[in-house]
Amino acid sequence: MFDDIAENIPEQSIQLHGVNITIKRLDLVHPAISGNKFFKLKYNFLEAKSLGYLGVLSFGGAFSNHIAATAFASHQFGFKSIGIIRGEELAHQSLNHTLFTAQQFGMQLEFISREHYRLKDSADFLAQLKEKYPDYYIIPEGGTNDLAIQGCKEILTESNKANFDLICCAVGTGGTISGLIESSANHQNVLGFSALKGDFLTKDVQQLTHKCNWKITDEFCCGGYAKTTPELLQFMQNFEHEFSTPLEQVYTAKMLFGLSQMIQRQEIKSSTRILAIHTGGLQGRLKTE
Ligand SMILES: *Cc1c(COP(=O)(O)O)cnc(C)c1O
Repeated sequence: MFDDIAENIPEQSIQLHGVNITIKRLDLVHPAISGNKFFKLKYNFLEAKSLGYLGVLSFGGAFSNHIAATAFASHQFGFKSIGIIRGEELAHQSLNHTLFTAQQFGMQLEFISREHYRLKDSADFLAQLKEKYPDYYIIPEGGTNDLAIQGCKEILTESNKANFDLICCAVGTGGTISGLIESSANHQNVLGFSALKGDFLTKDVQQLTHKCNWKITDEFCCGGYAKTTPELLQFMQNFEHEFSTPLEQVYTAKMLFGLSQMIQRQEIKSSTRILAIHTGGLQGRLKTE
């Protein structure tokens, strides 16, 4: 299922404040699953299979695009899947859209308390999980690891590397942008728009790449993860209407909102050849109409 995702991803040309932007539509890789997640999962799944695992296990919150993508990809790949979900209380409620979809794709959901969830990267907790689920290959929350970055290096085509000066994307855990940075050409810059508040992602990505042609800003995170402002929602609605391109409020709308603001403030030269990566995430979309 991972064979030909990188080929033939559609690109769309738009203008924001008179500046041309090419949008690489990873959202069109699948109607509901974030396109970047396929790239992140590809080499993890191949590794898991070659090591003889029968399934994958990963972690996420109730609205996690990564959980939805892992469930779907497992289903397609012929893997079993387990999702460790943050929030014990959710076990007693009806499933939201994301979790319902994951379950439909055969994912076994296990709900744990927020305190317990915080330990998800600790050696002890991982050792316990390995003992309980020996047939499952463990992928970290958000799916970011070295193999995810290897997969995200395949997002940019040779023509993307030759024909653009600036590559923009939304940042959650930093895996996608690290792959873009690693594969970018020397003349290119990569600009990440953080979906979360704080500068920790810059430090995280510094650990994931040795290159320096990049920057991450949290200026357009609108207060933090999954938070919105009236301006963001207004921008999203106008954008969707004008370009017939669906966005979602957690990642892609913030990236394009930020890009639009920076162009308007002339922080980006109007002659810059911009490639913006639409990472998808539409399964978690808030309807603006
Ligand atoms: C997961 C996700 C991201 C962030 O990707 P990272 O590799 O975690 O930085 C961006 N956009 C969408 C739509 C996503 O689902």
